[in-house]
Amino acid sequence: MEISIWWVRRDIRIEDNLALFRALESGYAVLPLFIFDREILAGMAPTDLRVEFLVREVDKLSGILADQGFDFRVETGIPLEVFKILTVKYTVRHVFASVDYEPYSIKRDQVIEEFLRTKDCCFHRLTDHVVFTPDRVIKENGTPYQVFTPYKKNWLKVLEADNINYYPSEKHLARLLPLNRPWKKIETVEGFIRQDFEFPSNEPDLVTITNYHLHRDFPGVQGTSRLGIHLRFGTLSIRKLTRLALDYNTTFLSELIWREYYQMILFFYPSVVTRSFRPEYDQIQWLNKDDDIAAWCNGQTGYPLVDAGIGELLATGYMHNRVRMVTASFLTKHLLVDWRFGEAFFAAHLLDYELASNNGGWQWAAGSGCDAAPYFRVFNPVLQAKRFDPQNIYSKRWITGFVSPDTYIKPIIEHGYARDRVLKAFRKGLSANGIDSLP
Ligand SMILES: Cc1cc2nc3c(=O)[nH]c(=O)nc-3n(C[C@H](O)[C@H](O)[C@H](O)COP(=O)(O)OP(=O)(O)OC[C@H]3O[C@@H](n4cnc5c(N)ncnc54)[C@H](O)[C@@H]3O)c2cc1C
Repeated sequence: MEISIWWVRRDIRIEDNLALFRALESGYAVLPLFIFDREILAGMAPTDLRVEFLVREVDKLSGILADQGFDFRVETGIPLEVFKILTVKYTVRHVFASVDYEPYSIKRDQVIEEFLRTKDCCFHRLTDHVVFTPDRVIKENGTPYQVFTPYKKNWLKVLEADNINYYPSEKHLARLLPLNRPWKKIETVEGFIRQDFEFPSNEPDLVTITNYHLHRDFPGVQGTSRLGIHLRFGTLSIRKLTRLALDYNTTFLSELIWREYYQMILFFYPSVVTRSFRPEYDQIQWLNKDDDIAAWCNGQTGYPLVDAGIGELLATGYMHNRVRMVTASFLTKHLLVDWRFGEAFFAAHLLDYELASNNGGWQWAAGSGCDAAPYFRVFNPVLQAKRFDPQNIYSKRWITGFVSPDTYIKPIIEHGYARDRVLKAFRKGLSANGIDSLP
């Protein structure tokens, strides 16, 4: 039997789904497929909440399709092996999937593409997780932007020219392959333990978005959307959310453009995954002291905003953006710990972990990134707390027994000393590379 496959990856939804839409247009019956990829799962803890999220969302999607009489194949394994089996059972003419710019995905897709070619099957990778492909928003001379503001300006210009597409995939499901076997609930994934956890809803809250510019910087209030995990796994269409942002709040829209900006950086500069965007920052002599790292990871630095941030992260898999900036700055600048360590720690704990944004955020905080905070900007965690958590609501929520900054544990490092030390270390590292006109 000749079919097309819709390979669901980071686009776990039926509505406004480009890969599904194109698959349904292909002229063949479409088999939806999700693979719990053993290579990715191997690096995750058995209690990882992101696996729990995937199990629930894939199960939900499979149930919705089964209710309408359609098949959804769910496998656990190595993608190449899964495709080898499927291409024996079916004559697969096309595979449609949402593209991903992460190095592992690029390599995996190359292997799959080569294999499918030997089976006369076309592998189509479509851009669904961002509004515009990275090469759609570039400078007039054809090179990528390295500064956010002109990138954003051009992004908005492109938006006027292109509009935001809508792909009504949900209206053409009749072309999916019928379910010819009893439907089975996904109970678990081999090696993982089911978790009892309440994930944020994928329904954008219009009141939050309308008031976003007023409350988004205050971690003690619920002022941001909490939609990160849904954008990560495509349980919400970025096009739908961007349309809402255009209607309701331009500050919120700007944050979505930051997300696109970091995706663009990862696409054009994949070396940022392991190296500083500004190579001179790789000459900085990080201290990477075990005691400092342990204090930061355990929320024991003596700075309430930093410790509360880690408390929130470990308890919920989330950390408020303002606090992400302060904790990242504290680790890299106050403690002189390599940004790659903090990046990996966040990657292990954030539910909304996204390589492009996480790498961008950490390199921004360390100063090594594209359009980053300048090296001499060292957040004062005490002033940040006074300004953004003046009544200590956030600290009280995430630090057990916290009463006030005055009675809190002693800071592991004094701010003025840390500031002088990092400026010296950064100047030394950067001037070793001929950057000697530093302020
Ligand atoms: C050190 C550091 C690490 C970060 N790691 C991640 C990460 O792994 N994954 C991630 O999605 N974001 C990351 N961010 C960006 C930002 O902190 C989160 O996107 C945001 O806090 C998620 O909360 P929210 O969904 O309520 O976002 P909202 O404030 O409601 O924003 C809506 C959406 O816009 C996007 N967004 C918002 N701010 C940014 C930003 N500064 N950069 C890129 N995208 C943004 C996100 O997709 C977010 O869900 C990081 C920031 C820093 C400073």
